[in-house]
Amino acid sequence: MENQANGLGKVNKKLTSVEKATSTILKNIPVLPSHEEIVLNSLGKTLAKPVTALLSNPPSNVSSMDGYALKNSDIDNGVLEFKVIDESVAGKSSSKTVETMQTVRIFTGAKIPHGADRVILQENINSLGNNLIKINKNNLENNNFFIRKAGMDFKLGEKLIDKGEVLNTRNISLCVASGNSWVTIRRKPKIGIISTGNELLKFGEIQNSKNNDKIISSNDIFLFNFINQLGGEAFILPTAKDDIKSLTNILDEANDLDLIISSGGASVGDYDIVQRALEKNNFELLFWRIAMRPGKPLFFGLLEKIPFLGLPGNPVSTGVCSIIFLTKIIQKFFGRQVSENIAMMRVNCSLDKNDHRKDFIRSKVIKGINNDYIVEPFAKQDSSQISLFAKAQGFIIREPHENKIKKGTKVPVLLISENI
Ligand code: AMP
Ligand code: MG
Repeated sequence: MENQANGLGKVNKKLTSVEKATSTILKNIPVLPSHEEIVLNSLGKTLAKPVTALLSNPPSNVSSMDGYALKNSDIDNGVLEFKVIDESVAGKSSSKTVETMQTVRIFTGAKIPHGADRVILQENINSLGNNLIKINKNNLENNNFFIRKAGMDFKLGEKLIDKGEVLNTRNISLCVASGNSWVTIRRKPKIGIISTGNELLKFGEIQNSKNNDKIISSNDIFLFNFINQLGGEAFILPTAKDDIKSLTNILDEANDLDLIISSGGASVGDYDIVQRALEKNNFELLFWRIAMRPGKPLFFGLLEKIPFLGLPGNPVSTGVCSIIFLTKIIQKFFGRQVSENIAMMRVNCSLDKNDHRKDFIRSKVIKGINNDYIVEPFAKQDSSQISLFAKAQGFIIREPHENKIKKGTKVPVLLISENI
């Protein structure tokens, strides 16, 4: 009955597993092309080629302290008085060669002069006047020569940052210091977002007594921020009404995108028109409906070769499916390692036997008495509850058909990153 109303062809009753869905999606997501970019503009972008040191740091042996550079063999031979023959400052080194019983006044970062192989801290010497110093032997730190060897930090040609890494403030400074003014980065994926639903008001539109059967669309804003936060480039396309023509018109204009995401209308109701509209546009459906809670109506396919992810409209379903699938899609576009941040934590209540769907239980993480982390699922798990989704710090992952779990058992928790 529902299939007839929906108008879709034969529906595969068997739900696709989350793992199969993930591999099908990722097989159809290409790694995007790369280009050269000035490193100053590279914050948050992904390296397509590793960064290699174009110089060594430090470029030569330098002092790590303010003091006096001299021969260690003199110290070994019990020499205590030295003649100061020159000065070596960071950026202005001494060209003199240090002979026995001679020293060069030296400062942090300055090049160690020829002949010297040890620095004595300035607080360990007394000045005798006439360019003579005497070492206060009691304070000598025998095992520290206070020299940073050339290339101690990194050496010319050394691989410093792997491809696939996201450039952050720290590794950009490493690029700069290692002489890399340009880096090879991946192009950002351009991702179009289409919300569907007759009930949707756009951000900024006001709900009033005449339209109180309407709701403010939040999925598009969520997806926009989510994509941008993960380094992609999001475009909110017009909102589609629940009719095929409205969606088809929007799809006709959706050019030059690496991925299209719809929210809503993915299920089997009379007004769930997304797949029917797509079918009219040469759509190749790769799966529909997955063994997952929330997110069962999710589908994925190719629209004229463009990957198309159909998300369910419930905001928590959109959110959880984005965290589970869209994160990996974006990682793949960037050629990054596809990964999830999962930690094992004790659960502070018992959990019933699970059914056939993989469950992602919205939860909060609390500090236990031993400073370990404990996971606490929210009592309510309805997929419409934006307020609880906003508070969640992670999802307890429950495999299909998993047995009852006792309070205190360690369970896998997928941690939601703080900026999502
Ligand atoms: P649907 O998947 O279209 O059946 O929608 C499921 C539920 O999600 C309905 O209660 C919709 O009103 C709601 N919904 C759909 N799209 C959005 C959206 N863009 N923002 C917030 N809620 C939505
Ligand atoms: Mg709808």
